[in-house]
Formats: sequence, structure tokens, C-alpha cells
Amino acid sequence: MSPRPHYLVLTYPLQGHIAPALRLARRLLAAAPDALVTFSTTEAAHRRMFPAGPDAPDGDDDGRLELLPFSDGTETGYVPSSDHAAFNAYIAAFHAAGARSVGELVDALAARGRPVTRVVYTMLLPWAADVARDRGVPSALYWIQPAAVLAVYYHYFHGHAGVVADHRHDPSFLVRLPGLPPLAVRDFPSFITDSTDPSDFFHSIYTTTRDLFDALDRETPKATIIVNTCKELESSTLAALGAYEVLPIGPVLPAGDEAGLFKQDDAKYIEWLDAKPASSVVYVSFGSLARMAKEQLDELLKGLEGSGRPYLCVVRKDNKAELAEAEARIKNGMVVEWCDQVRVLSHAAVGCFVTHCGWNSAMEAVACGVPMVCVPQMSDQRMNAWLVECEWRVGARAEVGSDGVLRAAEVRRRVEEVMQGDARGAAADWKREVVEALGKGGSSDHNLRAFMECITSDVQ
Ligand code: UDP
Repeated sequence: MSPRPHYLVLTYPLQGHIAPALRLARRLLAAAPDALVTFSTTEAAHRRMFPAGPDAPDGDDDGRLELLPFSDGTETGYVPSSDHAAFNAYIAAFHAAGARSVGELVDALAARGRPVTRVVYTMLLPWAADVARDRGVPSALYWIQPAAVLAVYYHYFHGHAGVVADHRHDPSFLVRLPGLPPLAVRDFPSFITDSTDPSDFFHSIYTTTRDLFDALDRETPKATIIVNTCKELESSTLAALGAYEVLPIGPVLPAGDEAGLFKQDDAKYIEWLDAKPASSVVYVSFGSLARMAKEQLDELLKGLEGSGRPYLCVVRKDNKAELAEAEARIKNGMVVEWCDQVRVLSHAAVGCFVTHCGWNSAMEAVACGVPMVCVPQMSDQRMNAWLVECEWRVGARAEVGSDGVLRAAEVRRRVEEVMQGDARGAAADWKREVVEALGKGGSSDHNLRAFMECITSDVQ
């Protein structure tokens, strides 16, 4: 008798990786009643998500979902600091200990009669495919950024690094890559424009990404990659990604409450939204990592107050000190430390999202039909903003000054542009497309099932 399908879903311990991994886990369980899933991230992140205690979950009641951490070789996980050497050391420990520990986990699951039949891993785990292959288990990369970024990285690591390197200080230079429209250097993922020097803080992310593409090249006949996007959103790019078996299965969304690294604010922000007119509120969040300097936070709040519109703004606990005196000047807004973002974006009162354009945030906004003001900073965010503004026309990118600060006047200008312009209509149209893609028989639903049935040539 062949074993039940059992997916080991592995993820790097960042909120923006954990959320789509958990959502995928739920989708896999929902798509096949006999499927098993083991969700695994590092021990420190696991403890934060599922604090110990009598009620600590170890999986779903019916036993189909198990939550089992792997070791990154540290007690505490990465402790954010400006120490470049400490970050490099963490990444090195993560790779060495992670590969060993995940190997032991796969072996232990097999030993207790719950063998893994497919390893699914998010980016930054370039060793996962080798660990799986060594044990005869197939694997798939779960790409949690746009297909456009996958394509850019693919071409960069397959013969096009030189042109990017030659022009990386020229933001408006247009790079032509196969299957993609001409793209300005300023829209490229920052890890290939800013982090190729060993002295850059994120250099180890650049080398990890390079190692990931090397690992994909070792897969035969072709690496399988499931992508958190949908065919309708990125059709031409997806069509040009022939080097891999690529299945767009997103955008993944939460199914009810979701464990994460951050504690929800107790403030009654949903009740606050309930009292506001339809499409009147500006929602503002820069995700789980970006920290705003005091000057930036002051300018942002000044711009939001100046817009005269009600606003709900997330300022994380670790960024609260920078809010200090500015909080006293807040009249039209509400500030929370962390909210249920998808619930907020789904609320009828929300009319626009000022976002750093992390891929999860962008996908959640598209799925909820909310137009965006994009303030991208690093990684894939600039390319995500390009998709939002130029490809889907569901938002506008705000310009920052030469000092890197987004000024109050620009906040006001872009919020008005997005609240009153065509972006809202386009966002409503895209929402419909996404609902269809995710629904029964839609492209993403079809592709997820094709992935689960291993008929990857049947991609839509
Ligand atoms: N998020 C949330 N509550 C908040 C702020 C953010 O739930 O108050 C979630 C958001 O819904 C998204 C994730 O945090 O799923 C942020 O991921 P993204 O890729 O947008 O950005 P990152 O944090 O990785 O920079």
C-alpha cells in the first residue's frame, strides 16, 4: 500500500515566510482529505508562535497537521542588530544546523510510520532539495515572491549578472531580460543590485539566493516550483519561465485565525473601522521587518493628518520609541502595534493601503480589492511596486527624497491620487480575477491539485 501523501512544509523564521507557508499547509489539507502536513520552522520561531503551556497545540485535532520545529543551531534564533558579522554567523549556523536537523526530522518521521512524500520549502533554504533527494523524497520550492522576481533572479544567475553589475548604480537604466519587459535597475531586487559586495549587510542573502538557484539546477529533469501568485496576474512572465515546472497556486490567504510571530494589539480597531464610512480609511503598514526612523514616522503622520482622512496605522512595538511625541498630534487616526491585516483589508471602510509592498501585503491587498500607495524599500518590494503601479494599475509608487525620506506632501498627494483615481476600479476588477482563480476549477485551484497529483505538465 502506498503511503498517504505527506508534505513537509519548511520555512525560514520570518513572518513574511511563515504566513504563506502556513496558508499553503492549510490549502494542502483542504484540497485532499487523506493528505498529511508537517509544518516546520526553527525552534525559536516555533516557541514564539506556539507558546508552551497546557493548551500548546502540536497540530490539528484530527492529527493531519503536525507542528514540529527544526534546529538552526541557536537557542534564541537571530537577534536583530546592526552587527554584520553576527548576521553572517547566524545565516551560516542556520544552513549547517538546519540541513542536519531537517534530515533527522525526515528520518524520524519515516521511523514512526509517517514518511514524508514531498518536501516543500520556502526560499533561503537552498539545502532542502539536497536533504530530500538524499532520502529519495521529491521536493518543490515554494516561491513566496512574484514570478517576475523568480524570472529576474533566474536570468541574473544564468548569464545576465554582468549587465546588472555594470549598471547597478544607474537606477533608470533599462535591462532587457528574456521574456520580461524592459525593467529599470531601480525596480530590481535589491539583493542583486546592492548586496553583491561582501561588505553589504545582506551579502549572505545574496549568496544564499545564488546557492538556491544552483540547487534548482541540480534537480532532474526539472525543478518544480509552486508560486504564490496566480496565472492571471503574471501570465506572460509565467509563460517565459520554461526552465522550471512552475505552478502558480496563489494568492494564499488565511483560513481563520493564524499563528504568527506577533501578538495582536488589544485595541478595538475593527469596532473603530465599523464606525467609518465605506472606503474612507487609509490603512498603513510597513510589514514585519522595516523600522521607521523618527523623522520618517513624523513625516508619515503629518501627511496622513494633512489628508484629512481617517487612518489606521501599524507601528510595531519595536518601533514605538520613534513615535514618542508624534502620538500626541494624532487626531484622525488610530495606531496599533499589530493587527489582523487581512481582516482590516477586507473591511468595507478601508479605501487605500499605504504599504512597503512586501509580497504578502501586496497579494492580500489585491485579493481584497484595495488600491495601494507603495513605499518600497528592499528585497523584492521595488519590483512588487512596479507590478502594482505599471502592470495591474492598482496603485501608485510614492517618491522618496534624495535623503531617502518620504515627505508629508508626497504622502498626501499619493493618497489622494489612489483614493480618487482609477486604481480603485482596477483593484475591484483584479479582486474578481483572483476570487475566480482561487475558486473551484480556477487556475490556482487547478494548479494546486495538479501539483498534489504530480501531473505538473497539466499546468494552467
Ligand atoms: N501583518 C499583519 N499585521 C500587521 C502587519 C502585517 O498581519 O499589523 C502581516 C501581513 O498581513 C503580511 C505580513 O505581516 O502577511 C507581512 O509580510 P510582507 O511580505 O508584506 O512583508 P515583510 O514583513 O516580509 O516585510
